[in-house]
Parts: sequence; structure tokens; C-alpha cells
Amino acid sequence: MNEQQTLEQKVEQRRRETLEKVSPMYRSTYVKAYEGNSKAAAIRAFCLYCTGDQRNEIRDCTSYACPLRECRPYQEGDAVRHRTVIDLAAVER
Ligand code: SF4
Repeated sequence: MNEQQTLEQKVEQRRRETLEKVSPMYRSTYVKAYEGNSKAAAIRAFCLYCTGDQRNEIRDCTSYACPLRECRPYQEGDAVRHRTVIDLAAVER
């Protein structure tokens, strides 16, 4: 990377490189996240980024301490999330 680049240029270049690698079906999610107007898109894009765009890995994420885990996309339903919250409440006692 050119050391003469400004921070904005570095960000722009890194994002362009990332978008070239992202699956076309997820590109709009990344773009929406980069625009900065959607926290939901940012979370979705971050989980995609974290797993190399593997939806099943996001659904079955085993990073139990990740702060995004309860908000991650592609879960099977709220019942799973609800049970997890209840289990955590038991731990806190
Ligand atoms: S919830 Fe899981 S998939 Fe999403 S960012 Fe955290 S570790 Fe990665």
C-alpha cells in the first residue's frame, strides 16, 4: 500500500478490494454497511466478513462470547435466541 495515501484513500481502496472478493449476492449488504446508515446491515456484513460469507457458519456460530452473537443474522428463529437469553440469565444468578 502506498504510504502517501490519505486515510480516506486507504479506506476506499480496502473497501473496493473487499467488494471485489465478496460474493455478488452479499455485495449490496456490504455497500449498505459502508454507507453507514444501517446498523442491521453493518452487523450482517460483519458476520459475513467474519465467516468468509458462510451463512451456515453464522447460523451455527460457536463464538459464544462474541458481542454480536445474539444479533447475528440467519438464525432459525426467535425461540433459539430466547432460550439462550434464559440460559444466560441462569448463569448470572
Ligand atoms: S456472531 Fe459469530 S459470525 Fe457474527 S461476528 Fe460474532 S463470531 Fe462472527
